[in-house]
Amino acid sequence: MRVAVISDIHSNIAALEAVLGVLGSVDAIWHLGDTVGYGPEPQAVVDRLSGAGAIGVRGNHDDAGGGGDSIDLFNPDGYVAMVWTRARIDEPTRRYLAGLPERLVPPGSAFTLAHGSPRDPIWEYLDSPEVAAKNLPAFGTTYCLVGHTHVPLVFRETRGGMKQMVAPSQGRLALDDRRLILNPGSVGQPRDGDPRSSYLLIDTDAGHATWHRVEYDIAATQAAIAAAGLPPRLGRRLSLGR
Ligand code: ZN
Repeated sequence: MRVAVISDIHSNIAALEAVLGVLGSVDAIWHLGDTVGYGPEPQAVVDRLSGAGAIGVRGNHDDAGGGGDSIDLFNPDGYVAMVWTRARIDEPTRRYLAGLPERLVPPGSAFTLAHGSPRDPIWEYLDSPEVAAKNLPAFGTTYCLVGHTHVPLVFRETRGGMKQMVAPSQGRLALDDRRLILNPGSVGQPRDGDPRSSYLLIDTDAGHATWHRVEYDIAATQAAIAAAGLPPRLGRRLSLGR
């Protein structure tokens, strides 16, 4: 089975279309949350994801978009964008966001999906080997997929802990019996210094994972952010990948 793993789209429809356009034929699309927030096209992104048959989990921005109190913890730009988002999505979309599960194990798969981390799915940032090691007991599958940091990352089980590795930009990561926590990076607001959309492809038959980057029309999203009256910094950061 060939699976595309995408995360942190953040209402960036141009970025989502660019990724979906290069995927080729996949058997499933799994998303790791934060479909909305920050960006200018929340409704279009949720409609497109649903239309593509994607399944996934709830991030802090989805929780807030669905009416949850995660909004109280947002930074000022995130808060302004979320108030704007809430006013622009329809009721089925609000229900979709609120109804996303915190964790998901797709039937028959060896993967647990969570936005932040398996032990604290909505909010924890899984960004160090120490945090990764503490999360090992929190999922029962061999592998776990997380987003939230917007940075492609690999944590691999070693004797006595978890080792942090840079996600390979060339080549592939073997899915063997060692436990892994993988982050695909962000589709709609990358923060690793590379502004291109990031995603992960998993081939469960061949037993490997590969990371990919794709250019999208950043200027179009920035123009839509400006036209919507959203905080200008949310547009500027897209060019920087920060
Ligand atoms: Zn995010």
